[in-house]
Amino acid sequence: MHEYSLVRRLISHVLEAIESSPPCNVQEVVVSAGPLSGVEPLLVVQAFDQLKSDAGLRGCRLLIEATDLMADCESCRCSFAVQDFVFRCATCNSSSITVTAGDEFRLLRVKVLE
Ligand SMILES: [Zn+2]
Repeated sequence: MHEYSLVRRLISHVLEAIESSPPCNVQEVVVSAGPLSGVEPLLVVQAFDQLKSDAGLRGCRLLIEATDLMADCESCRCSFAVQDFVFRCATCNSSSITVTAGDEFRLLRVKVLE
């Protein structure tokens, strides 16, 4: 499943990020997910809960921060947040826009017990 391979990659990033700290000290992992990332937060959390013990991250919880879908207008050059998947410029209503953010799924923070 898509979510499992995603979470496996996420877990390896987490283990790299904590370097020499023991994985059992990781309390929290925070990721950002954009509306176009194709990530279903609930399924990602479920996959994480199933896979975390194997990585030694038993006590860790996963938080997902939703990010805005952003775009630049080619006509008036403004940047705006796309609302409700309406792909038109918020200022001039042009449909010549380029999505600049919103398709990412990435690790933001790892909180380790000192
Ligand atoms: Zn515009």
